[in-house]
Amino acid sequence: MESKWYEEGLKFSCKQCGNCCSGQPGYVWVSPQEIESIENHLQDNDIPHYSRYLRRIGQRFSLVERDNGDCIFLRRGEDGLALCAINKVKPQQCKAWPFWNDLLENKKSWDEEASKCPGMNSGRLYSFTEIEDFRKQDQD
Ligand code: SF4
Repeated sequence: MESKWYEEGLKFSCKQCGNCCSGQPGYVWVSPQEIESIENHLQDNDIPHYSRYLRRIGQRFSLVERDNGDCIFLRRGEDGLALCAINKVKPQQCKAWPFWNDLLENKKSWDEEASKCPGMNSGRLYSFTEIEDFRKQDQD
């Protein structure tokens, strides 16, 4: 089997800057099961219901972004740190960040993204096997 450039693993620990949940437009895909979990989470935690947090793209659904590019579920604490209103039930795509197929294609793609995400290349070391598990779940 061909060896991968991240065979020794990669470091990542989120610094809660919020860059990955804001800025450039994009899609956060949510499956029917994930939508159900989000609905339950909003109800169980008495979080004000977001009447329009989903948008239909073809046959799939994606989370809505605000006009400034923020994810609809992005919140800021008093300390300015980013918080996710649905952290416990966030979509797999968010859980897998930054171990996405397109970022792992080569070291250049990874390092380019790392210039925007201060959590990449620092903190916890993820093993090759853990990274490959994330990749298997990447739908795009
Ligand atoms: S850009 Fe990186 S450090 Fe900032 S919130 Fe996203 S994952 Fe965390």
